[in-house]
Amino acid sequence: MEYEQIKSTDNMIHIKSLDMVYSRGSYALADITLQIQKGEFIFLTGPSGAGKTTLLKLILREAYPTSGEIIVNGKNVPKIPDNKIHLYRRGIGAIFQDYKLLQRKTVLENVSFVLKVLGRSRRERNRRTLDLLRKVGIQHKIHSFPQSLSGGEQQRVSIARALVNNPSLLLADEPTGNLDPDLAVEIMKLFLDINMTGTTVIVATHDRELIHRFGRRVIALDRGRIVPWTYKERIFSFGSGKEKDK
Ligand code: ADP
Repeated sequence: MEYEQIKSTDNMIHIKSLDMVYSRGSYALADITLQIQKGEFIFLTGPSGAGKTTLLKLILREAYPTSGEIIVNGKNVPKIPDNKIHLYRRGIGAIFQDYKLLQRKTVLENVSFVLKVLGRSRRERNRRTLDLLRKVGIQHKIHSFPQSLSGGEQQRVSIARALVNNPSLLLADEPTGNLDPDLAVEIMKLFLDINMTGTTVIVATHDRELIHRFGRRVIALDRGRIVPWTYKERIFSFGSGKEKDK
């Protein structure tokens, strides 16, 4: 199959019979087949080691599948030539757990970097960057360098950076892992707003309460395979007889 546009469909992601085996030989992903429509909001869940990060990395072409098809926005991802991969990735906002912030650049420069590459005016870059830094609640750190920020603050900068270029696809790997619960809900609401503007969103999380609260389509993995997902109530008694999380 060629790399160039395969055919125009409503699918943002088409994955068929996908296997991923790392060098140690065990299947990180096994026989994954799924479709994600343009404009969907998806929770990708499963216990640690289930294969969530691997799936996101394959979508971003940070890794190659062992076998199977992976087509994103009509592009045959493993076949995208190396000299075109930056163009492909430019349409994807990616939030990973290692943040990948540029240490010698300020928060403002980190977030606005891609807009500079795209030749946007300073005025537009600053307006858009400030707007997002405000939305993630970190506008007061605009001139700070990453190493002076806490993990949660760096996470918020990486969220702003992923959104600054209005991506058509947002991939977020445990984006609220380092945030306290109120802020986690704010960030999820921000993702819903982005989704309302047409961005397809995939949030990997093991936070069952968060998934339940937002009630979107769930793709659940367990040891590399897609499994059914059901929300089970947690009942706390602690002698009070009170129930929570119904
Ligand atoms: P999750 O994000 O759900 O925690 P991962 O995708 O990180 O799961 O990992 C899935 C499986 O692949 C795990 O068994 C993990 O140990 C293995 N794995 C992940 N990355 C690598 C790697 N770079 N080399 C070898 N094995 C890996």
